[in-house]
Amino acid sequence: MPDARRRIPRTDALLRDPRLLDATGRLGPERVKSAVRRAQQQAREGAVPPDAVADAAVALLPRTASGLRPVINATGVLLHTNLGRAPLSAAARQAVQDAAGPTDVELDLTTGVRARRGRTALAALRARVPSAEAVHVVNNGAAALVLAATALAAGKEIVVSRGEMVEIGDGFRLPDLLVSTGARLREVGTTNRTTVQDYAGAIGPETGFVLKVHPSNFRITGFTRAADVGELAPLGVPVVADIGSGLPAPHPRLPDEPDARSQLEAGASLVTASGDKLLGGPQCGLVLGREDLVRAMSRHPLARALRVDKLTLAALEATLTGPKTPTEQALDADPE
Ligand SMILES: *Cc1c(COP(=O)(O)O)cnc(C)c1O
Repeated sequence: MPDARRRIPRTDALLRDPRLLDATGRLGPERVKSAVRRAQQQAREGAVPPDAVADAAVALLPRTASGLRPVINATGVLLHTNLGRAPLSAAARQAVQDAAGPTDVELDLTTGVRARRGRTALAALRARVPSAEAVHVVNNGAAALVLAATALAAGKEIVVSRGEMVEIGDGFRLPDLLVSTGARLREVGTTNRTTVQDYAGAIGPETGFVLKVHPSNFRITGFTRAADVGELAPLGVPVVADIGSGLPAPHPRLPDEPDARSQLEAGASLVTASGDKLLGGPQCGLVLGREDLVRAMSRHPLARALRVDKLTLAALEATLTGPKTPTEQALDADPE
């Protein structure tokens, strides 16, 4: 045993193994040294022969340089929040790779002058939903709502149905999120029934906007009634529709899922949504609709704190302009 222990290769010798040298470049020295130390420990315990310590260290190396491990989503749930929601298309993955180094995200290379951040991604989003006069992108769907509430209703009222006071998951409640901006909630109707008259009776000089929230993770059935965007649009105040899923246009397999185009055509002033649900793109929050309202949001100081990075912009644009996303393909797949 003492002999075997003496024959365990030293760390510096092990680190000269070509496989471990290569891994140091990919994963960083700390991860490789940690694998080496654990392999040496296994050898001291007699679990690994001294001449196999390098092999053991290689086997102990993590696959990636982060703690996020690639997994196969075999849950049957297409968009699984705990598994990172929408998987990116090959085009989006490539775009992320291409944008990873220095890139012209905010510079016009022909004039050398600063240019609008993410202009091509924003143009692609506009082109995908032509009924939107203007668009803006933030970090996630919740951020889109927070920015709308802050820029359009701080110190004012957001009129919302009691049937749409939603918890989106992990304890996050939209009403709490909205109130945190300094806006006041003006609840109307009841859990199961809210009419357009309920909204009309609550609208006044204090109103910032009317909010419609898609109940994307629960269902109220039976004796129910809700006012849709088309009925609310004539009330004379902005109607913000949080559709959640980010479907740009109607999808034949999802007849009950609201989409951005239909909501805008029905009269919504703004639509907010996530980019990493049915759109099949990276995590981000989409804002689409009236030019003056989108501008008020994108020029609000808070917008800077919610802005997306170049990798997100790259992945979003490639998702919008590229081939069918893995999410769309999965939706189209024959269950058999
Ligand atoms: C998912 C969802 C949100 C939150 O979007 P995130 O991108 O997760 O922040 C808000 N509203 C609705 C209706 C949703 O479905």
